[in-house]
Amino acid sequence: MSLLKEKVTSIHHWTDKTFSFKTTRDMSFRFKNGEFAMIGLEIDGKPLLRAYSVVSPNHEDHLEFLSIKVPNGPLTSKLQHIKVNDEIIVNSKPTGTLVCDYLLPGRNLYLFSTGTGLAPFMSIVRDPETYEKFKRVVLTHTVRTPKELAYKDFLENLNQDEIYSEITNGKFIYFNSVTRENWERKGRITKWIEENKLWEYLGVEMFNPEEDRVMICGSESMTFDLKKIFEDLGSKEGSTKVQGGFVIEKAFAEK
Ligand SMILES: Cc1cc2nc3c(=O)[nH]c(=O)nc-3n(C[C@H](O)[C@H](O)[C@H](O)COP(=O)(O)OP(=O)(O)OC[C@H]3O[C@@H](n4cnc5c(N)ncnc54)[C@H](O)[C@@H]3O)c2cc1C
Repeated sequence: MSLLKEKVTSIHHWTDKTFSFKTTRDMSFRFKNGEFAMIGLEIDGKPLLRAYSVVSPNHEDHLEFLSIKVPNGPLTSKLQHIKVNDEIIVNSKPTGTLVCDYLLPGRNLYLFSTGTGLAPFMSIVRDPETYEKFKRVVLTHTVRTPKELAYKDFLENLNQDEIYSEITNGKFIYFNSVTRENWERKGRITKWIEENKLWEYLGVEMFNPEEDRVMICGSESMTFDLKKIFEDLGSKEGSTKVQGGFVIEKAFAEK
């Protein structure tokens, strides 16, 4: 395992619970969009690393990460205080199952996320190959309060973005919902799917397991519930070894 040292170049605090930051990128650090790497800080002379999905797409020359702030979390209680020019450590071997290659070819791609589970999809929705492979790319993000909708403005405007409009070609659809406060779209994504409201709201074809593909990233309970929904609809889980109808990554382990 080789550990790279990267310099923090900017930081954005979304709320008192989440923040994102950009770092330099050693170009020997190569990854597939959707993968995660072990990153962290040197604490008392030893590396303290945790899994983090890479937010920035692999064609960019910097790295970006979206992070939770766990009050007594060994890493994030310190990481949340990083400043520009501080160093973070990045393990040079990224991995993960949220990669388009691990899905069977298909019609529409659905990316379902909660909380920081949005992170891997931020790179996938900016990858030109995603749009070569799928007719439509639907990203959903569910959080507790509207303030937690990280990257909302960017995602709402992705089809009009100066750089990315040429990549998305109008094929990108962003949907968010909020569970704990008033919002135009209230409730868990499982409710939107089970009540058949999602497809109607988006104005897209009903989900068809023969043609449509899914990636899921979020809390343990959300990934468990969505896995059951898509299995019941007839979709099969894929992996790094066998292509499937859906792939899953837990965004964190629940205690
Ligand atoms: C494959 C994978 C990818 C991950 N990608 C990311 C990512 O992109 N961004 C990110 O912030 N975290 C991500 N995580 C979680 C991350 O690895 C750490 O758990 C997190 O940074 C907290 O570290 P910690 O040492 O402060 O606390 P830990 O001791 O690691 O966690 C303490 C507790 O905090 C809660 N928790 C941890 N992470 C989260 C989270 N992201 N959202 C809500 N609650 C959480 C859980 O209950 C956990 O048991 C990922 C985890 C996995 C397994």
